[in-house]
Amino acid sequence: VDRPRPLVAGNWKMNGLKSSAKVLGEIQAGYTPGLKAKVDLAVCPPATLLGMFALMAVGSRIAVGGQDCHAKELGAYTGDLSAEMLADAGATYVLVGHSERRQYHGEKDKDVCDKALAAHRAGLTAIVCIGETREEREAGRTLAVVKKQLRGSVPADSTAQNLVIAYEPVWAIGTGLTPTTADVAEVHGVIREELRRLVGKAEYAKVRILYGGSVKPSNAAELMAVENVDGALVGGASLVASDFLAIAGGY
Ligand code: PEP
Repeated sequence: VDRPRPLVAGNWKMNGLKSSAKVLGEIQAGYTPGLKAKVDLAVCPPATLLGMFALMAVGSRIAVGGQDCHAKELGAYTGDLSAEMLADAGATYVLVGHSERRQYHGEKDKDVCDKALAAHRAGLTAIVCIGETREEREAGRTLAVVKKQLRGSVPADSTAQNLVIAYEPVWAIGTGLTPTTADVAEVHGVIREELRRLVGKAEYAKVRILYGGSVKPSNAAELMAVENVDGALVGGASLVASDFLAIAGGY
């Protein structure tokens, strides 16, 4: 099977002001025809910048994504944003189930599944984030945890078009630690097999499975060379245009 076209997505988390448009401009300038030929790019800024970034990115082939969405389309949910609102602001992707949402907002697999469904309803591609904690890894439960999260978080209407999986070991996020390439290969292989059951024979090989957790220019090429790694979800390093572009260039 052909490998899916890789995607490098930047998760800006709660970082970025209007002045950060400069960073997006630098990313656009560095997204050369050579790089465009190899890899898709997406930037997930805070919601306050989403509309502006989407307008800036028109014509550049850089996609813009939200970092979370509500499961409902509209209503009395103060402070929340629907997938339809993100799409209306110009997003084509949305992260769902990021470990920081699971940890600080108590999101469970069922919530994540509902949010991914909402993303699909709004025509967005859901980047469903999964990954084990340090305790779970040390207890030898990584594969079981990842399978359970996948089964619980991936909605039944998922396709290679509207679903991306991001495998992010929680202990690797923002810590500078990364799993070995052998560990990444094992987990991504299990995710691929599980996707066969979840999205079906015709599509499962085309679903992009990103690795996330302390990806930086110095380790990107090695991580992205691993079988079944179809790109990266990048936190800290996505805030610096030259680092983000160097990571994308790792392909
Ligand atoms: C993330 O939180 O999605 C992430 C990958 O963070 P970092 O790259 O900073 O580890």
